[in-house]
Amino acid sequence: MTASGPGGASSTLLTGGGELGEVPYLRPHPGAPAVFARRAARFEALAVGHAAGDYLAMLSRLASAQKTVAERLRLPLPASAVAGALPLDAAGAPPPPWREALGLLLGELAGLEAPAPARAALERLGRLSAADLDGVASRLLAGGLTPLDLPLGLFAGAALQVVFTAQAACLQAAAVARVEEGCPACGSSPTCGVVLGDDKLRYLVCGLCATQWHQTRLQCVLCRSSGAVAYLSLDGDTGPARAETCEGCRAYLKLLYIERGPALEPLADDVATLALDLLVGERGFLRFGRSPYLVAGVVASAEA
Ligand SMILES: [Zn+2]
Ligand SMILES: [Zn+2]
Repeated sequence: MTASGPGGASSTLLTGGGELGEVPYLRPHPGAPAVFARRAARFEALAVGHAAGDYLAMLSRLASAQKTVAERLRLPLPASAVAGALPLDAAGAPPPPWREALGLLLGELAGLEAPAPARAALERLGRLSAADLDGVASRLLAGGLTPLDLPLGLFAGAALQVVFTAQAACLQAAAVARVEEGCPACGSSPTCGVVLGDDKLRYLVCGLCATQWHQTRLQCVLCRSSGAVAYLSLDGDTGPARAETCEGCRAYLKLLYIERGPALEPLADDVATLALDLLVGERGFLRFGRSPYLVAGVVASAEA
């Protein structure tokens, strides 16, 4: 593993001749079908020759199904933001259209080539009552899946992603206020961050609604300490992923550098660089930010 200093510190203060305050807070949302189409293509490309290629290929088919559902789903527009409230609310009750999204997703995945536990999870989701499904979704959104829920989490989460991503794409940037913590559109914790090459800007990425929002670099995303941040990557790795670790709180955030991987898609590249998480974890750092594509039950079974 290679450790390095942050580098390029001076370039973070200025961008394109403007002060940091002029940096757009949100990156433009490309719309749900485009998000999932790009993700499906990237999972497919990353699967080739990868140790976890079968799992990445399955995620490519899942993201492709998410794209189709996003195209077919008719959603009510999100309620306009109330002062002081998030426009979308990942901490509230699951949005009712999520069950319709799940139904469409199960239809799209009917012939999915997947390990037995994943197929069993799809069948079980198809049999659960609306109340039981909402229970799974609520626990998933709250980060409190039970062991029995775990195999369902990947697909239930995929349906929730479609709804939140489609709703986030409808938000006007002006309706999204700056927040101190979490996704400014839905309140979820970021899954990872992307660093834009030219200006070394950092945007955090929401795994639920695909919103990307600016946050100052060289600062721990969890405790905001700037003095104890270091960057770890795998030895000899020229890929886009680095772990931004914090000695202060022992957390880390996965960062993906677009200049080192112009074709990267944050959620897909995050899953494909799991080896980095394992090594950083061995050093005693806890990951900040969950991926909806890494739900323990199914992943462990798929890779067994
Ligand atoms: Zn979000
Ligand atoms: Zn910290």
